[in-house]
Amino acid sequence: MSVAERGSYGPYGGQYVPETLMPALEELERGWTAIRDDPSFKAELGELQETYVGRPTPLYPTERIGDTKSVYLKREDLCHTGAHKINNALGQALLARRLQKRRIVAETGAGQHGVAAATVCARFGMECVVYMGAEDMERQRPNVERMGLLGAEVRPVEFGTRTLKEATSEAIRDWITNVETTHYLIGSCVGPHPYPELVRELQAVIGREAREQILAAEGRLPDAVVACVGGGSNAIGIFAGFLADEGVRLVGVEAAGAASLGTGRPGVLHGARSSILSDDDGQIADAHSISAGLDYPGVGPEHAFLRDTGRAEYLPATDEEALAALHLLAEQEGIIAALEPAHALARALELDAELIVVCLSGRGDKDLAVVLAHDR
Ligand SMILES: *Cc1c(COP(=O)(O)O)cnc(C)c1O
Repeated sequence: MSVAERGSYGPYGGQYVPETLMPALEELERGWTAIRDDPSFKAELGELQETYVGRPTPLYPTERIGDTKSVYLKREDLCHTGAHKINNALGQALLARRLQKRRIVAETGAGQHGVAAATVCARFGMECVVYMGAEDMERQRPNVERMGLLGAEVRPVEFGTRTLKEATSEAIRDWITNVETTHYLIGSCVGPHPYPELVRELQAVIGREAREQILAAEGRLPDAVVACVGGGSNAIGIFAGFLADEGVRLVGVEAAGAASLGTGRPGVLHGARSSILSDDDGQIADAHSISAGLDYPGVGPEHAFLRDTGRAEYLPATDEEALAALHLLAEQEGIIAALEPAHALARALELDAELIVVCLSGRGDKDLAVVLAHDR
């Protein structure tokens, strides 16, 4: 393993990967640097964000749930495929095409990122291989079927806990073997540099829109911006719009059983140094959450840095609190949210703040079975 001090966020980030991957990371960084400010790339991405994804997404002022607070929801649940993940998948597919990679590998836990990856691969005529833990494939049947319909090949991963952590390791192994032809489409702001930065920039559209929209609606900035944190991509995307506004509190909400920032320690996982759930011997610990999208023992390195510097704060929410918030939003606003952003909403409603923007990262169709089973 080689360590480089590239792409660091204080003591976090970097490139903890086998030597054979360094050329691919360098190629990716060069490609990204070359196109990120290229007007033709921006125009192509902007056009597809509008006509394919459905951007800009609305900023909805809730009517009944806030009590004395004003709570606005940034409606990423209205994106094509039902969550913010398509923002990242679309941008990376465009980048892969410019790097002349015709094959995409991805990992997926709940299947949401796998569906987003399969979707953009269909759109661009790329081959798509998605690694998924066998346990997750059983739990997330509809998403496995969606990926099949979209023309992707889903490869079951049978070792370890048979979930996301092992699926990620398998995707990295495939990438190492096929690095000439293949782009690894990471689903969150994790992994070796330049991925955390790349994914942040592709999700920053959420924060740019939200800042403009709240200023237009209220004539002032919010007191707090709240988002759920799995790997951290929807949170870093919305935070990016408000990082420079020191008066705006940035609040990330983790699943209490997967609080990599709240109870984790420094360590290396999947190519980067960050804050990680681990036991006394430094072994990666298993995360537990009712919400598959938050059920990951790591988190993006920039969040660990924002926690240490105090610019952002990170709070836990339990399964029960998320379920209660999901029911409240469904019954009082007519919106069925995914379980992930329900964690953010649960904490947001208790914050000592008047004007709050919550990132509603995805819709709840995928979680119906889990919610109903729990209510029974
Ligand atoms: C995957 C997912 C998340 C967690 O991922 P982040 O990278 O932390 O944003 C959150 N919400 C929804 C709806 C998801 O599908």
